[in-house]
Amino acid sequence: MTARVVHVKRRENMGWFQRTYLPAFGKGLATTSRHFFRNLWGFLSGKSTAFVVQYPEERVDYPDAFRGMPVLVALEDGLPRCVACGLCEFACPTDCISIVPGELPERGIERWPEAFDIDMSRCMFCGLCEEACPEEAIVMSREVELASFDRAPMLYHKEDLLVPENLLKRRLDFIRGEYDRQHAPAERRD
Ligand code: SF4
Ligand code: SF4
Repeated sequence: MTARVVHVKRRENMGWFQRTYLPAFGKGLATTSRHFFRNLWGFLSGKSTAFVVQYPEERVDYPDAFRGMPVLVALEDGLPRCVACGLCEFACPTDCISIVPGELPERGIERWPEAFDIDMSRCMFCGLCEEACPEEAIVMSREVELASFDRAPMLYHKEDLLVPENLLKRRLDFIRGEYDRQHAPAERRD
């Protein structure tokens, strides 16, 4: 297949007046002034149209498509749904996921994550781990308050990442409509 070549117009034929950039400055100033006076009028009249959230006392309800920190889906018994296949680890562009697979014979589970770490100081919230997971076991949550003065607390372990499935229902419903999965995730293995 031959690639389509797009010729980008690098030089604009501008007249001398445009070359002074005065029309562009004027347009920018007009837009800024319009917003400034509209908000000032709203403030003075008590009918403000400005969208302000008094964070952290007020929080917005992020849309279902929002991508916050990736978390692990915990089933009713508290165990992760993850089967330690490693696909999310492979898909992660920043190499911030680290999984140690293991076995849980006493529960009849042949494969599960003995350890599952995410270095949130490197995560870029791309959601590729969620997209790669065939089990709907890792999903993007609404958690974004992750700031730290140190790198060490940014390393999240399996216990920190587990979130009950019912709390992730909105995101799970969203990704079911979003990703074209060939099969439904496997049910509990034991
Ligand atoms: S959201 Fe992206 S960067 Fe973060 S863990 Fe998932 S794949 Fe890696
Ligand atoms: S892709 Fe899903 S099932 Fe596989 S290791 Fe990652 S979270 Fe677990």
